[in-house]
Amino acid sequence: MTAAAAYNHQVDGTEAQNKAINGLAQEFDVTTERLRTITNQFVEEMRKGLDHEGATVAMIPSYVTGRPTGEEVGRYLALDLGGTNLRVCEFELKGKGDYSVKQQKFVVSDALKTGDMRDLCDYIADSVDTFLTEHCTLPGEGEEKLQLGYTFSFPVLQTEINRGVLKQWTKGFSTKNAVGKDVALTLQEAISRRNLPVNVAAIVNDTVGTLMAYAYSFPDTVMGVILGTGTNASYYEKTANIKKWSPAENDVSAGSDEMVVNMEWGAFDCEREVLPLTMYDNKVNRQSRNIHQQLFEKMISGMYLGEIARNAMLQLIDQYLLFNGESSPALNTQWGFETAYLTAIENDKTADLSETKQILEETVGVASSTTLADRQMVKKIGEFVGRRAARLAASGIGGVMSHCGKVGQESIIAIDGSLFEFYPKFEHHIREGLTELFGQEAANKVRFALARDGSGLGAAIIAMMAHKHGKH
Ligand code: ADP
Ligand code: MG
Repeated sequence: MTAAAAYNHQVDGTEAQNKAINGLAQEFDVTTERLRTITNQFVEEMRKGLDHEGATVAMIPSYVTGRPTGEEVGRYLALDLGGTNLRVCEFELKGKGDYSVKQQKFVVSDALKTGDMRDLCDYIADSVDTFLTEHCTLPGEGEEKLQLGYTFSFPVLQTEINRGVLKQWTKGFSTKNAVGKDVALTLQEAISRRNLPVNVAAIVNDTVGTLMAYAYSFPDTVMGVILGTGTNASYYEKTANIKKWSPAENDVSAGSDEMVVNMEWGAFDCEREVLPLTMYDNKVNRQSRNIHQQLFEKMISGMYLGEIARNAMLQLIDQYLLFNGESSPALNTQWGFETAYLTAIENDKTADLSETKQILEETVGVASSTTLADRQMVKKIGEFVGRRAARLAASGIGGVMSHCGKVGQESIIAIDGSLFEFYPKFEHHIREGLTELFGQEAANKVRFALARDGSGLGAAIIAMMAHKHGKH
């Protein structure tokens, strides 16, 4: 018996097609044993990241200390850069976890993502200007500036709540003259060039914002996790455990016994020791803008799942096992198959998979008429890729829970991102992974809470906390 025979997926096709799909099932499987190995390694890497600079999982101190009480009030701005859109928001915090928000979205073009940082910051400042003009009451002469929390979701080495340099770009950004520079100062300069009455009060990673936003209503929230364009997480750590860090003399975070750590977990296992990489992952990695970096992220997040599936489909096409051996221009193009298609295909409950047929033949432009077996195979590939992503995310979440001694305790995990929100069964597969790691009873005590676009609210809360602390 071959190992693949342990997998029992069936499509209405030939023996060769069935064999191929079960082969893929095996390649994309993360067994319980492997899940344990990855989780253990994850705990080890967290420890290294807390111990010294330069570790693979960076474990960056966020300078966010203390928990929101829910009583925070006032008007604060938030900016969110780091994924598909740029968002500018104004939050009115009303206390008791209540708030209202005005917001506007702006598109960040590929030219800006790959151009010069000054142009990107000018564009952001222009967007803030537009938003203020259309939606806000500006402070009068002699009044205090508006305080802004800047959600900047890339690895930033912070030295203060509103100071930090960009370590490297991820998620398809490669803007020039940015790495090694202070992200808050660069933005503040662009804002000041326009004479806007705005102070960049805090740099906020989106995971940290998500955690704080949920903690505004539920102070016991354990982690903030992003499963969107990219993936990352943050959690409360005892400052005594952050061995590599000591506060500067006048640092307001001195004396706090806990601080949120931005893990930058997308970088996990760049050494390729435990992740079950397939040839499809290797190809995605090789063709990416950040080769050999963010391998965990590339197996999990929304930017990449469609791309992994596309490569698996091409492999089957080349063996004449899919679409009668014919591809399409979109399918032959990098990023030509969106992760959202996989969601739509997995949600297709029609007997003949007619919605899948429409996506493949009309949207993706597969030349020949697809067979039911073709459509079933594509659906299976989506299932495998999504399930694997969720199980790997579970190993990260499980690693943090083990490290923090939270296994078996009631825990809330705040999660934001379209992948978690829309990809079928994502939460189910994460929970299944946690059940295999810790048992049913412990897994049942974990609650996953969707904190949609929580990072904006979190950034506003953090800007408020920073502003309040700064006044002491
Ligand atoms: P961001 O992470 O950029 O802040 P989102 O959380 O909205 O924004 O995530 C966007 C990512 O989610 C995109 O990269 C896309 O691949 C993925 N995505 C968008 N819509 C869907 C969907 N319906 N199903 C699965 N993934 C989706
Ligand atoms: Mg987001």
